[in-house]
Amino acid sequence: MRRTTRTLMTGVLLVALLLGASGRAQALCFFNCTYTKTKYPIVLEHGLGGFDELFGVYSYWFGIVGALEDGGARVFTTTVSQLNSTEARGEQLIDQIETITALTGKAKVNLIGHSHGGLDVRYVAAVRPDLVASVSSVATPHKGAALADYLRANVHNGSFTEAVLAYFANSLGTVIGLLTGHTNPQDAIAALDSLTTAGLAAFNAQYPHGVPTTACGAGAASVNGIRYYSWSGTGLLTNALDVSDGPLALSSFFYPEANDGLVGRCSSHLGTVIRDNYFQNHLDEVNQVLGLVSIFESSPPSIFRAHANRLKAAGL
Ligand code: CA
Repeated sequence: MRRTTRTLMTGVLLVALLLGASGRAQALCFFNCTYTKTKYPIVLEHGLGGFDELFGVYSYWFGIVGALEDGGARVFTTTVSQLNSTEARGEQLIDQIETITALTGKAKVNLIGHSHGGLDVRYVAAVRPDLVASVSSVATPHKGAALADYLRANVHNGSFTEAVLAYFANSLGTVIGLLTGHTNPQDAIAALDSLTTAGLAAFNAQYPHGVPTTACGAGAASVNGIRYYSWSGTGLLTNALDVSDGPLALSSFFYPEANDGLVGRCSSHLGTVIRDNYFQNHLDEVNQVLGLVSIFESSPPSIFRAHANRLKAAGL
């Protein structure tokens, strides 16, 4: 009996040591361990005002990175200027992707961007296609955001109001950047101009890959060997405990179409449209705040896992 107990304890100790040494991804995986094991690394690019990790611990992609890693994916989160033009953010992203390809030895990456991040990844695919296996956008305003249009129409170029708003927004962006350990330059007005209908019309004329040519259709599934995908939500008040639901429900009134509080359903379309009406608001899509999302909808981490499996099945 005593011998059995000793053997059992030794076994438990060995398993604990093995789990500790092999890291979290393997530690939690006992079945389906290759479900998200894509050929190329997955790179997650945050939206406006976003970050990779606050204080090195709180992830923008709440519970999503771990969920992807548990299925075997190699995942990297990037940090660019919280507030800046798509081109400026895209150039910063290229630098980080070059580091990732050098680190992993993989020539390309699968890019997934949330909100403004979806424009950054399109920019990278257009100017550095050699680095990109696929582009996926989550609730990105590819045809512009009505709230940005409203702000631009009411904050005139060169005005005192514009200067004051830019000062406060840039300061906020700088603080978020510092909390994440980054000092990327902030330019709130350039960010705003990148998100208006006029700004996106100019951007799409220069970088049309994957953008639907009709008002609410899908885009090309593949351009120059790069796959394009998108998904988004149209939920607003999805979780009574989440204080961010109220402001998103209010901002939704600026939009003429179904939206997630900040991005319209049709505006979110890019390439293959996986789904455009999840019961999720703009923060639910990245499982915020603290995983407070609708219990009646697929969980955001499971949606990201299914997409990684889709990329894997496509040989990416
Ligand atoms: Ca939420």
